[in-house]
Amino acid sequence: MRTLFLSHPRYRDHLAPEHHPEQPERIAAIERQLEGEAFQNLIRDMARPVSDEEIQRVHPAGYVEHIRIQAPHDGLMSISGDTILSNGTYEAARLAAGAACLAVDEVMAGLVDNAFSAARPPGHHASARQAMGFCFFNHAAIAARHAQTAHGAERVAIVDFDVHHGNGTQNIFYSDKTVFYASIHQSHLFPGTGEASETGIDGNILNVPLGAGANGEVVLRAMAEAVLPAVDAFRPDLLVLSAGFDAHYRDPLGDLNLVEADYGVLTRAVMEVADRVCGGRIVSLLEGGYDIDALGLSAAAHVAALMGH
Ligand SMILES: [Zn+2]
Repeated sequence: MRTLFLSHPRYRDHLAPEHHPEQPERIAAIERQLEGEAFQNLIRDMARPVSDEEIQRVHPAGYVEHIRIQAPHDGLMSISGDTILSNGTYEAARLAAGAACLAVDEVMAGLVDNAFSAARPPGHHASARQAMGFCFFNHAAIAARHAQTAHGAERVAIVDFDVHHGNGTQNIFYSDKTVFYASIHQSHLFPGTGEASETGIDGNILNVPLGAGANGEVVLRAMAEAVLPAVDAFRPDLLVLSAGFDAHYRDPLGDLNLVEADYGVLTRAVMEVADRVCGGRIVSLLEGGYDIDALGLSAAAHVAALMGH
């Protein structure tokens, strides 16, 4: 399998206060795990900044500009709760969104089979005009729109296995039946949305909230019995993953009980459906994951599966 891995050194420049979970070393922890022999064949490239046209398919120009001018020259500034801007945030966020588009370009052109973007800040809590939950721009939404506008994809499915509900992604596509959004997450956790009753305009939203303590077996069953049959029936031209690794048992922000190997099993289950419905085309985008070691190991299990190991 030809798997593309995208990252960028500038992600380090999006700073966070001490003890904030979304720390710069998250990306380095993933990169360290991908240094081994098993990852020799990974195709590595650098993110590129998102263009104005690409980002404005999801976020109005005025909102993008608002994020740009809010960033402080020095120090840190809260834009909402613990969503923090530093001087390097805007550039990092534009690279994270651009990486999503670059991954779509390469996968849709058949230059690679699938791709994983290890980027920060994350994206799935960002709505069109609202930054929250450590997120500024919604990379999964930008990727879906890019596939539709630049590559002629008619339908895109976004599958989100972060421990939190991707409220931003759901908001953006709630009334758009060309995009299917499915999320498996811990119920009654931040941001409080993602009830099973939230189904979109045309059944194009699927939420599977799980009780605290659910393990890999429960998550895999939700994936295999609820999410993947719906993805199959939707017949997407591309599958985008909101790949958060904070359902790991060691994660400080969630109370689900996955182990790193579960992410390999989960990924292979998704790939089976992608093979059947969209030529295996998967663009996977990092969302959460806040225990540094667990994040590195879980992302490595995910990437190894994408590579066909
Ligand atoms: Zn999360």
